[in-house]
Amino acid sequence: MPTIFSHALVPLAAGAAAGRARVSPRLALVGAWLAIVPDFDVVGFRFGITYASEWGHRGFTHSLLFAGIMALLVALVWREARSRRAVLFLFCAMASHTLLDLLTDGGQGVAIFWPFDLTRYFLPWQPIRVSPIGARFFTERGLETVWSELALIWLPALATAGVGMAMRRRRDVA
Ligand SMILES: [Zn+2]
Repeated sequence: MPTIFSHALVPLAAGAAAGRARVSPRLALVGAWLAIVPDFDVVGFRFGITYASEWGHRGFTHSLLFAGIMALLVALVWREARSRRAVLFLFCAMASHTLLDLLTDGGQGVAIFWPFDLTRYFLPWQPIRVSPIGARFFTERGLETVWSELALIWLPALATAGVGMAMRRRRDVA
């Protein structure tokens, strides 16, 4: 997995790029939260659930179906998310986690099509260094992860947010 900061950044940057008229700051924050949620599955290790299990890390919590269910659940309990656009945003926010994991170079693949297909997938192009879990993060490998995430996630995300904000400003001025 990329670090949780990088996962959270993607919906926040997308929200900033779209503007608060389309994606409210609160909706963007909930999106950022959903982008972190899939990796809560690591608690499964404590309970003896193996990595390879569909209930384990990168299993069902990383599927598109789970992202859809979570987006709908949020809409069910939160009035502000009760529009097609908000649900779509929340779905994409959570699915962005899976997309980033598909681009990492280590661990097991992602059960993106659970429960219909339990295959663990990666994309053919895996430029993001996988983040070591826990204390192992503070090693050279951890530093490499930070660099790869800065270059491949933070830079494009902040650039997208910047371009979106600049385009809106120009439209407002015109
Ligand atoms: Zn993950």
